[in-house]
Amino acid sequence: MKPIEIYKELPKSNCSDCNEKTCMAFAIGVSKGDLKIANCPHLDNEKAQRIAANIVTVDWRLNIIKSLWEDIKDVDLHGIAAALGAAAHDTGITIRSLGRDFIVGSDRKITSDGQVTPWEEILLLLYIKTGGKGEPAMRWVSFSELRGGGVKVEAIRKEFEEPMSELFNKNPKQAIAAIESLGAELVSGQASEMAWRCHLMPKIPMLALYWPADTEFPARFKAVFDASADMFLDVESIVFLCEGFVKRIAQRMGLEVE
Ligand code: SF4
Repeated sequence: MKPIEIYKELPKSNCSDCNEKTCMAFAIGVSKGDLKIANCPHLDNEKAQRIAANIVTVDWRLNIIKSLWEDIKDVDLHGIAAALGAAAHDTGITIRSLGRDFIVGSDRKITSDGQVTPWEEILLLLYIKTGGKGEPAMRWVSFSELRGGGVKVEAIRKEFEEPMSELFNKNPKQAIAAIESLGAELVSGQASEMAWRCHLMPKIPMLALYWPADTEFPARFKAVFDASADMFLDVESIVFLCEGFVKRIAQRMGLEVE
């Protein structure tokens, strides 16, 4: 069903009870598969079921993946492996990200131990697309200093710094074991009490600064990045990587993740 067809079935009151500003915004979200028709509490069951049965959603991420593979179809993976910080082998190259090895095959498939999500595939392909041109600056900067970072500061706080603080508040010992099991290295001489150098992608290191909880304040985290990080991925993709990192730590701690 097209957005306009879904819209026609809605009450058109723009009441926002579905957390969308307008019924039209809700209809667009439903047609893309991002929202569920049942989120509008003002539709009777029968109507909601009829609409749901007529919605065929296409995972738009698959189109992005297809187009990214097209973009890199002439790229010599072996030729750029060293620049990407990847290992070349007979069947393709291996890129290590967030403590996991991803094999990017010459057969245009990305595999790993366990499932590779569409987002992981997109981020790896975007990284490959840069060709690894450039070298890390070996200088830490705040997220807002990266190109475009100023408008995404809230995202890095919400998707990385706050959930990391929560995990470390919950069980610091287990959280420390989890972050180190993902290959993060403890670094000394930083402003915080503890800090880890984490590898989002081979050429995108992040320094996670950690202030443990005390009698006055809960645990606190701050992420800083190598000044060259925006040469290898855009800031939005970096936020996704950080979010994925938090999820992996939570998984290692045996916690449920969305
Ligand atoms: S809850 Fe339903 S009626 Fe209200 S804005 Fe959302 S779609 Fe429209």
